[in-house]
Amino acid sequence: MYSSRKRPVEELPEEITTIWSCSDESCKGWMRDNFAFSSDPACPICQSQMVKSEKMLVALVNTSPNSSKL
Ligand SMILES: [Zn+2]
Repeated sequence: MYSSRKRPVEELPEEITTIWSCSDESCKGWMRDNFAFSSDPACPICQSQMVKSEKMLVALVNTSPNSSKL
């Protein structure tokens, strides 16, 4: 964990999250691992195979859907 030198700005905390991303590089499809209902999910956009990956994402918390910074 890194707790030092945090800017005093209201930022949503991000964390490394396990995700599935589409194996097709031209496709932007991905999903959180939490949201994958299969151990071998298919891309919801193009039905390609998905590969496990990691991504810095805003931690999932039950606040207002105010996250338009992608
Ligand atoms: Zn895809």
